[in-house]
Amino acid sequence: MVYNHVVGIGVDDVDQLCLECGRRCCNRRSLGNHVNRSHKELGGLLGYLLKHVLVGVVPKCLCGCGKEVHWHKVCYRFNDYLTGHNPSSLAGYLVRTLQVAHKALKPGCRCVLNVSSDLVDLVEASAVQVGFVRRADLDDALPVGRDHFAKKKGVGSDIRVESIIVFEKPIQGGAQ
Ligand SMILES: [Zn+2]
Ligand SMILES: [Zn+2]
Repeated sequence: MVYNHVVGIGVDDVDQLCLECGRRCCNRRSLGNHVNRSHKELGGLLGYLLKHVLVGVVPKCLCGCGKEVHWHKVCYRFNDYLTGHNPSSLAGYLVRTLQVAHKALKPGCRCVLNVSSDLVDLVEASAVQVGFVRRADLDDALPVGRDHFAKKKGVGSDIRVESIIVFEKPIQGGAQ
């Protein structure tokens, strides 16, 4: 699993007192060892942080999806985003954009996208995630030709033809 962004809530790597018993620990590793040894019931730094800092609430993804983020074992902290929800990632961008489109469209309306062929899978996954249904049966039915801007610029016939893919907002709510 790839984490794009790891600066979430965690245990700082500084000299600190154990919030469970007051023992002094010179850094995060030392606190982690101490918590594992002396406060087994907490379940490591994750449990320690949940009890003393987060009052039992796992932080939510900053993208606004409402889902809980994962604990990053190596960095001893919660991630800010779920994988792919980071706004700087393409997947996150697609999901947010498609979410807006899905919200704006009336049920039964279609969303026609013109994407390069290597992105079709990612776009489809993102669209389905926000509640669209793929209408592959309509993909070829659209009278959309080649990029006429490319033609104007004198680009030859070897231009990549982009895929036209069609999604529909289902009548009965989303497919979440
Ligand atoms: Zn302690
Ligand atoms: Zn999210």
